[in-house]
Amino acid sequence: MSRTLAEVAAEASTCTRCRLAQSRTQVVFGVGNPDADLLFIGEAPGFHEDKQGEPFVGAAGQLLTRMLGGIGLRREDVYITNVLRCRPPGNRDPLPDEIESCTPWLIETISIVQPVVIVTLGNFATKFVLNTQRGITSMRGGVYGWHGRKVIPTFHPAAILHGGGEKSRQFVDLQDDFALIRTTLDAAARPEPVAPPAAAPVPAAAAQDEQLELF
Ligand code: URA
Repeated sequence: MSRTLAEVAAEASTCTRCRLAQSRTQVVFGVGNPDADLLFIGEAPGFHEDKQGEPFVGAAGQLLTRMLGGIGLRREDVYITNVLRCRPPGNRDPLPDEIESCTPWLIETISIVQPVVIVTLGNFATKFVLNTQRGITSMRGGVYGWHGRKVIPTFHPAAILHGGGEKSRQFVDLQDDFALIRTTLDAAARPEPVAPPAAAPVPAAAAQDEQLELF
């Protein structure tokens, strides 16, 4: 039987698989609904995340929360995590051996949450998940298949904040990408149309029982 996310997070909280164990305040495993249809992957915890133990709580996180609200979702409705679970000192880029050490935590997270749609935030997560060298500007706007799921790459909210902010062309693209997330989720959640039964009509009470079983 597979472990729960809480069990995995508890084990990860003492992880010493890479050098970041020495400089972190704490492991930032992930936050949200362990049964979410939608999972976000960022790069790595920053200063505030390292202090608070939760991903995307700083300025970039506040923008992410606002974007979620714009498509009718709360942080509690989705699952949010990163490629790395510990803050690289000074927010430097993750190193290849750190990514390799941290990948099993991400894979186990995805296999427990079983999201229908994965959103990769920024160049780093997109290149890692989709195994591509293409940059986010050319990857965004599309939906990519990945192990039976859908991946939607978009700009990292921090890149929007450090770029032209909410007046920029990138922000319009970010809004378009969130609209795409919404329609992709809705389409994925829609049940297959069921063919009408060919057999004789079922008595009303029995039919209702059957309908309840569909949920
Ligand atoms: N940036 C990230 O990529 N992840 C966080 O958790 C916060 C900022």
